[in-house]
Amino acid sequence: MNQSTCIFCKIVAGEIPSKKVFEDEEFFAFEDINPQAPVHILIVPKKHLVDLFDGSQDPALLGELVARSAAIARERGIKDYRFLTNTGREAGQAVFHLHFHLLSGRRMGWPPG
Ligand code: AMP
Repeated sequence: MNQSTCIFCKIVAGEIPSKKVFEDEEFFAFEDINPQAPVHILIVPKKHLVDLFDGSQDPALLGELVARSAAIARERGIKDYRFLTNTGREAGQAVFHLHFHLLSGRRMGWPPG
């Protein structure tokens, strides 16, 4: 998958509709289409980065992405939440554009499935 076929790049560009939660120059957040909890928000960099490994080459952006995600939770009054990213197919990554999941509104189990 590259930038021209990436579903999250198309969402960022407005070519595929989404329920937008937040947008600034660098980041875009939207509701997951198949929510796994009452709150399930995806936060992505607008820049096409494949996964956390790719993202780690831009630590400043990665730090801002995490801070922005925490701010989205705080601004929505979400105090208890799970925040994660899947890296690689075996870990459950299905969309190869770096994204963090923000999940809340139900009790979370451990270990994750
Ligand atoms: P992952 O398995 O970590 O790659 O997560 C990909 C997430 O993207 C899944 O939770 C999907 O439900 C979600 N997803 C896929 N397509 C869309 C879409 N068009 N709009 C919103 N969320 C989507």
